[in-house]
Amino acid sequence: MAGILEILSSPERSGQTIDPDRVWQKSMAGAIRDLPTLLNRLGLPADLHGVFSPVSGEFPILVPESYLKRMHPGDPHDPLLLQVLPQQEERVDVTGFEHDPVGDENSRAAPGLLHKYHGRGLLITHGSCAVNCRYCFRRHFPYGEEPRALEQWEPALRVLAEETSFSEVILSGGDPLMLNDRRLQALLSRFDEIPHLRRLRIHSRLPVVLPERVTAGLIRLLTETRLRTVFVIHSNHPRELVGDCAAALSELRSAGIILLNQAVLLRGVNDDVNTLAELCERCVDLGVVPYYLHQLDRVQGAAHFEVPVETGRQLIEQLRQRLPGYAVPRYVAEIPGERSKTPL
Ligand SMILES: *Cc1c(COP(=O)(O)O)cnc(C)c1O
Ligand code: SF4
Repeated sequence: MAGILEILSSPERSGQTIDPDRVWQKSMAGAIRDLPTLLNRLGLPADLHGVFSPVSGEFPILVPESYLKRMHPGDPHDPLLLQVLPQQEERVDVTGFEHDPVGDENSRAAPGLLHKYHGRGLLITHGSCAVNCRYCFRRHFPYGEEPRALEQWEPALRVLAEETSFSEVILSGGDPLMLNDRRLQALLSRFDEIPHLRRLRIHSRLPVVLPERVTAGLIRLLTETRLRTVFVIHSNHPRELVGDCAAALSELRSAGIILLNQAVLLRGVNDDVNTLAELCERCVDLGVVPYYLHQLDRVQGAAHFEVPVETGRQLIEQLRQRLPGYAVPRYVAEIPGERSKTPL
């Protein structure tokens, strides 16, 4: 909480430029968090069939305004809406769909640090996201146990510094860009001091769901670090990549940041060749390399999104016939205990 003196002397009050962190934080504060509002804003009936309001202990609804604006009103099957709308099927237990499908709990090297992949240290930098995606493999992850204050990061930073095989640090989450610039800066300056680190990788869905997070200050941080920044956006549908999102990606691109897209293959959202082809082409248009098409992680509550692997393979084959090689993503799955993703 800001102290009263801080508020009184804030630049907003004195008529100077507004703190850019404050703009996106305000958007977050105004994000949609309940079913009636979500349905109402989209002109959908309040008693829409097959949906539910999460109760306490269930994965809540969270949809920022910018993302909502890209949905088509009146369409209960809108592919953006389906990614955030709780469906009754989530409450059905399906065999084979588990709480920790990717085995995160077994690769913890320090609080907040996962050592899953050779040469890459993955920091769970922030527990929450700007959006709650119903298919998310981390919907049951015990985020409360990860470090929050900077000094709580010391054990993880020590392992990163001691383990010289690490050449890349991956900021993941939740969503790492939910950290404000000041805290990001504090972490990034520590990475700068670790000589064997060469790359900073950011996995974030914020340019897609909360484009106002891509501020000039953020871009400065990502370009001033000694490390080469690789930014992996997570977009699943071409209609996500328009308007303010396209503008944010173009800013990142102009700053010389390498941009990759990792999509998840989702039933009813992007499991047809036209949608996938358009997603890949939109990415290339915006300077984003279509990197991975990810098979859904089998997390409990997400079974209704699953597309059979055989269908996925056929879709990739059809993409290959339509698009240049660089526009065809690698179709992969995350298999617990494997040191890299598994090509399908
Ligand atoms: C797959 C994945 C990685 C590792 O990716 P590679 O490109 O295979 O090195 C890191 N972070 C997240 C969130 C991933 O899904
Ligand atoms: S943004 Fe990523 S981590 Fe966050 S809820 Fe969506 S899929 Fe999960």
